[in-house]
Amino acid sequence: MAEVERQQWDVVVVGAGGAGLRAAIEAREQGARTAVICKSLFGKAHTVMAEGGIAASMGNVNSGDNWQVHFRDTLRGGKFLNQWRMAELHAREAPDRVWELETWGALFDRTPDGRISQRNFGGHEYPRLAHVGDRTGLELIRTLQQKIVSLQQEDFREHGDYEARLKVFQECTVTRVLKDGDRVSGTFCYDRESGRFFVLEAPAVVLATGGIGKSFKVTSNSWEYTGDGHALALLAGAPLLNMEFVQFHPTGMVWPPSVKGILVTESVRGDGGVLRNSEGKRFMFDYVPDVFKAKYAQSEEEGDRWYDDPDHNRRPPELLPRDEVARAINAEVKAGRGSPHGGVFLDVSTRMPAEVIKRRLPSMYHQFKELADVDITAEAMEVGPTCHYVMGGIAVDSDTAAAREVTGLYAAGEVAGGMHGSNRLGGNSLSDLLVFGRRAGLHAARYAAGPGADDRPRVDEVQVDTAAAEALRPFSAEGPEDGSTPENPYTLHQELQQTMNDLVGIIRREAEMAQALEKLAELRVRARRAGVEGHRQFNPGWHLALDLRNMLLVSECVARAALERTESRGGHTREDHPAMDREWRRANLLCRLADPTGGLAATDAVRGQIDLVRVTTEPIRPDLLALFEKEELVKYLAEEELYE
Ligand code: FAD
Repeated sequence: MAEVERQQWDVVVVGAGGAGLRAAIEAREQGARTAVICKSLFGKAHTVMAEGGIAASMGNVNSGDNWQVHFRDTLRGGKFLNQWRMAELHAREAPDRVWELETWGALFDRTPDGRISQRNFGGHEYPRLAHVGDRTGLELIRTLQQKIVSLQQEDFREHGDYEARLKVFQECTVTRVLKDGDRVSGTFCYDRESGRFFVLEAPAVVLATGGIGKSFKVTSNSWEYTGDGHALALLAGAPLLNMEFVQFHPTGMVWPPSVKGILVTESVRGDGGVLRNSEGKRFMFDYVPDVFKAKYAQSEEEGDRWYDDPDHNRRPPELLPRDEVARAINAEVKAGRGSPHGGVFLDVSTRMPAEVIKRRLPSMYHQFKELADVDITAEAMEVGPTCHYVMGGIAVDSDTAAAREVTGLYAAGEVAGGMHGSNRLGGNSLSDLLVFGRRAGLHAARYAAGPGADDRPRVDEVQVDTAAAEALRPFSAEGPEDGSTPENPYTLHQELQQTMNDLVGIIRREAEMAQALEKLAELRVRARRAGVEGHRQFNPGWHLALDLRNMLLVSECVARAALERTESRGGHTREDHPAMDREWRRANLLCRLADPTGGLAATDAVRGQIDLVRVTTEPIRPDLLALFEKEELVKYLAEEELYE
């Protein structure tokens, strides 16, 4: 079999975005020898693209803010489906994680009196997002990388080796989590440039691989986001939670076609931008749902006054949670009141002086100038919904970030499910990465320190050989008949993206999702025949052929769960079940691999590869429920929960 090099570590962190880096720093500080592996260049992760800011209730701009208000907003945004303990830990710990970044060298924008400035964002009651212009993610990643370098310098002084206790493997992909019985034993990986296989042996693995957006055609996500961590967890035997909840961000670019889907940050609206239809109407006033009516302005005048006097006015409806705004834009376009290229207008040019726009939204100014030849200081942008974020993910223990059912596996960041319920509020991802990245690193390191040298899990040769054979299969793939050409991975990917976009997209219908499942079954059979030419040295077609397995697994989870949930809630909108149903609030949907041996043999169109079960959530702790008015709880909680 193939020659496979091995290295031993205590903790392997898969992913070098905010969650992965924060986990690695924590694990190393706990004394664990830690490897970080990422499939892109070190520093190139989604986190770096985050624009608007990081949500933390520091109360710098409005002293009324505190963790309880943040918790309340997060639960309202997620329509009460959040794992409440995660939302509580997140709201409590986010301010400390932001302060910590400054002690490591980050520099956030300031208020006039020198405190960290905080900006408004959809669904947040107070200005809460700490930011660095519209390039917050860049500062976050730069700071975490700097911290890693400083830890490596410490190790050099102590051990004469920068990588003695913290090493980064960049442009390397993990294709399997290896196991010894029920316990994790390491990861199978390949180097993208050379094609060389290697194994990182470790008792603890933290998955921090981000999102799944590349399964959809119109997306703000970049090439790496093929749901790898979600699939790795499934294949290792861990369940995924509530995969039906996919966030379609309301404002992606719609023109020109080559950049369709690229994000237009919510800060544009947070800083005063307004949405208009082709008739010039600020249509969001027509789309405020009953549950939010008391909190949002009823007139343009009131909405505009709120920017200067938030204590005596209600916020404009452009700042409703993302799911509401995305659905409203979709409805306007469908009603024939869209912009020339199938979106709506987002205008800052009539709302702020040009120099303020350029200072507060520098990336947006350049993005539109360079990609669409639009000067946003002089004319409106055209925007429409784009697949942005997945709320569903690996089911984890709220306190320790341990994946359910697989000992030694942890997950943090976008790949983990539960924190955001059915819809994430803007800014709550960056804080989630830091809060739960730290927790995952801490608990992974503690667990790894547990087993003595004799009791460490062993890597099974058969699993390594199987993983190598699986990875090599595209080089020997054949078509359905003897000698016929294999499937082209790029064609399969396009068909998958079109299917998910058209049939499991922003508005869902039963018949279309059933059709999607049939198409996914067909694609799954064809994907096993995906073939590539050439050799293993940097071969993007081969990489895509391997990523297809993950995208197909994850897409099936999304489609199956979306078909099962017969209500509309947050990021999941059913045209045939348009209302939110209180009885569904306590229902969580768990997806597991149907073939528990981890094989991918199941090709049955009806049954597919995924088993889905319904489980009931734990009741929300009474002191947390007491943060809400009774009238509000009545809108969300099921009858028996209210009684309890
Ligand atoms: P990522 O940052 O996505 O990193 C994932 C890492 O995993 C990468 O290093 C990748 O190479 C690696 N990886 C993936 N698969 C493998 C594999 N098989 N093997 C090895 N490595 C692998 N959120 C906010 O809170 N505020 C914002 O202002 C904001 N703006 C955003 C703007 C854009 C354009 C986008 C796309 C997202 C934005 N978000 C924002 C969301 C937020 O940026 C992401 O949810 C978050 O950064 C995800 O971080 P992560 O650490 O979970 O993963």
